[in-house]
Amino acid sequence: MVGMRVGIGHDTHRLAPGGPLRLGGIDIPHDKGSVGHSDADVLMHAVVDAILGAAALGDVGQMFPDTDPTNRGRDSAEMLCAARDAVAAVGWRIVNLDCIVFAQRPKLLPHRQVIRKRLADLLDIDPDRVSLKGKTGEHVGPIGQEKAIAAECVALLESK
Ligand code: MG
Repeated sequence: MVGMRVGIGHDTHRLAPGGPLRLGGIDIPHDKGSVGHSDADVLMHAVVDAILGAAALGDVGQMFPDTDPTNRGRDSAEMLCAARDAVAAVGWRIVNLDCIVFAQRPKLLPHRQVIRKRLADLLDIDPDRVSLKGKTGEHVGPIGQEKAIAAECVALLESK
């Protein structure tokens, strides 16, 4: 019997004036950007947590503490590669990801294929295994009022 594991990841970052917006490993031209210790890539952090969670290997904050000055401004693509390698090292392979970005603006659709390919390339899987959806905040709450951006991801792993 093939072993399978599912994991969930969630992240939120504050938005502040001044772009670009780093999301899923790409820089999207926008009038606001995410604030955080690293590059504040909310989607990448949700994906990292989903992958690590599926293998019960902790979370992104444990792997890259925000108290460590060397993590300041760190490219989250490095975090994703570290998570990919960590789950591979204990015998897991990524089957697929299903992700949601919660943002009032900008529209995700024009960037969706580029982000899917970027995540898939970093994880060494086919882009059709990376699903990406966008939701607005319906102009209410911190998401809808563009004070924050959030992301969620579910990841499925199978034993190698
Ligand atoms: Mg984060």
